[in-house]
Amino acid sequence: MPKIIQLSPHIANLIAAGEVVERPASVVKELLENAVDAGASKVTIEIRDGGMTFLRVTDNGCGMAPEDARTAFLRHATSKLRSAEDLAAIGTMGFRGEALAAIASVSRIDLMTKTAGAISGTSLHLEAGQIQEEAEVGCPEGTTIIIRDLFYNTPARMKFMKSDTVEGGRVAAAVQLQALAHPEVAFQFLRDGKQVLSTPGNGGLQAAVYCVYGRDCARMVSVDSRWEGYHLTGYVAKPTDARPSRNLQTFFVNNRPVKSKLLVSALEEAYRNQIMVGKFPACVLHLTLPAGAVDVNVHPAKTEVKFLSEKAVFDCVHYGVLGALNKQPDRPQIQFQKKPEAVPAPPSAAPVSASASPARKEPFFRTMTAEQYKTFSAAMQDSPKPTPAAASATAVKIRQEADPSLKESVIVPRPAQSVVSAPLPPMPEPVEEVEQTVLEMPKDIPWRMVGELYNSYILVEQGDDAFLIDKHAAHERILFEKLKANQEKISAQSLLTPIPVRLSPSATGELLENQETLDELGFEIEEFGENTLLLRQIPMDLSPEDAADALETLASDLLSGRRERSDTVRDELLHTVACKAAIKAGWKNDEAELLAVAKAVMSREDLKYCPHGRPICVTLSKKQLEKQFKRT
Ligand code: ADP
Ligand code: MG
Repeated sequence: MPKIIQLSPHIANLIAAGEVVERPASVVKELLENAVDAGASKVTIEIRDGGMTFLRVTDNGCGMAPEDARTAFLRHATSKLRSAEDLAAIGTMGFRGEALAAIASVSRIDLMTKTAGAISGTSLHLEAGQIQEEAEVGCPEGTTIIIRDLFYNTPARMKFMKSDTVEGGRVAAAVQLQALAHPEVAFQFLRDGKQVLSTPGNGGLQAAVYCVYGRDCARMVSVDSRWEGYHLTGYVAKPTDARPSRNLQTFFVNNRPVKSKLLVSALEEAYRNQIMVGKFPACVLHLTLPAGAVDVNVHPAKTEVKFLSEKAVFDCVHYGVLGALNKQPDRPQIQFQKKPEAVPAPPSAAPVSASASPARKEPFFRTMTAEQYKTFSAAMQDSPKPTPAAASATAVKIRQEADPSLKESVIVPRPAQSVVSAPLPPMPEPVEEVEQTVLEMPKDIPWRMVGELYNSYILVEQGDDAFLIDKHAAHERILFEKLKANQEKISAQSLLTPIPVRLSPSATGELLENQETLDELGFEIEEFGENTLLLRQIPMDLSPEDAADALETLASDLLSGRRERSDTVRDELLHTVACKAAIKAGWKNDEAELLAVAKAVMSREDLKYCPHGRPICVTLSKKQLEKQFKRT
């Protein structure tokens, strides 16, 4: 028979601490939220050894009376919530009354606090959640809290801590996030005695963004729009300044930093057809909604929220950002204008439909999601020389937009869907189902390279077919296969002048932790002051100009946890290197280079998609052209 006992408060706190206090950065997040809730206008954060041994937060907020200071460390003790009704409209950052209890249970704490007008303040010393000493002290108004020896009594948790560099980097990221969330508060951050961030606290978001993102934000576009009682403000990057990762996407809902796939997809939808697959816009966006329109109590760390109307939130962000981008004079070209009413297609040009026989030779583009690509490439590895039939078995039906006015000869492909799975965005244009097959290139018929279009597409003629080869996508795939075939270390070039690369603190830490992997990929890095790395050596195929970008992508790959299986990681990293090293659309290439690419594509069956799943080659048959010219 089980013998059930109720856990002691200390054990209960230790368990709860696992949810709220994961690492120094989460402690800092909670303490900064408390300072902001206390109405502070100035907050100083100081850490040593990544925050593991010493972490101090000082604020000039309302402080606590002696009895409040004692109660604050009890579980479910809060001044921010009185009744169940309050929970429906939370106006403060905290409300669960858990943070101080949780932090206290896994550290040693010193607290000094004084309320406005009080003659003296209170000092408390706690160990493992128990008050050991209490005294009346003279101190300034506000609160100072020092956390020492985090996780000293939970060795299991301690084992999960990374190096001080990594943990310190995460703390820095947490501070930056709060600085962007509260431009009205002046934040100062000192790491091992050095000041690394200082925001003016003048209330302007732009100033805070400048302090955090640096000079790069000068070119960002401001957003300010209202939508059904919702208000969206902030800054977004121009499409041309897209980044290789989502690291610089920051969202706040009612001043609370949140992670939300819905918000990410609403943002990125505004950039659709303006941005390369694999590139991501940077943003700092504040969404303000009536408290009743959002539930913040769905996650212990309060980083996830639930929206009453996801559709309204999506539209607010999507159209808000789109409007801001459209106001930009230098918006990159071009998109085919859709006709609002569906134009009935003449019978001869009946759109390719799902019911069409797959045997029918129709023009197509093929796009794959990252997931589909993985399945596909796995299939390719199993049989080194896939037959066209086997390959087409993996072909999937993909929704594509077809422009009825252009008939079937021009199909505008949707960019491969990003990995975000969120409620489907609104789809104003008519969408058709297109059955796709994998391109088969008959090998024996002679072919010739006709030339190049727009410095981007190689035109090849073979029998009664013309092929357009995307030279970047094709070259990327060729390099990828080459790198993959070469299982040992990637050959590298030493740089005469090392390149300094400034990255986010977490990215810097992650890369420094993974020097061995980087070395295998041909990168040699060195720590070079705050958040900056020095690139001393880069892969042979990569140009120095692209190296910094590639490094950032690698960091983001590593950060997003792509380390499960070492060969998957390697593949992801090889994608990155191949993509950066490949010739680019718009470049002038000489005929020999283009011919080499065309030759590879025309002769090798494995070169059908770029490593991101975009098609390498599309076809246009003589018949189709004749139809266009009404010759048949
Ligand atoms: P919560 O923030 O969810 O209320 P916490 O455990 O973080 O729970 O804090 C408990 C209480 O301690 C808060 O409700 C607040 O009254 C008080 N408190 C914590 N930090 C501060 C601070 N820096 N200044 C003033 N009061 C504070
Ligand atoms: Mg709190």
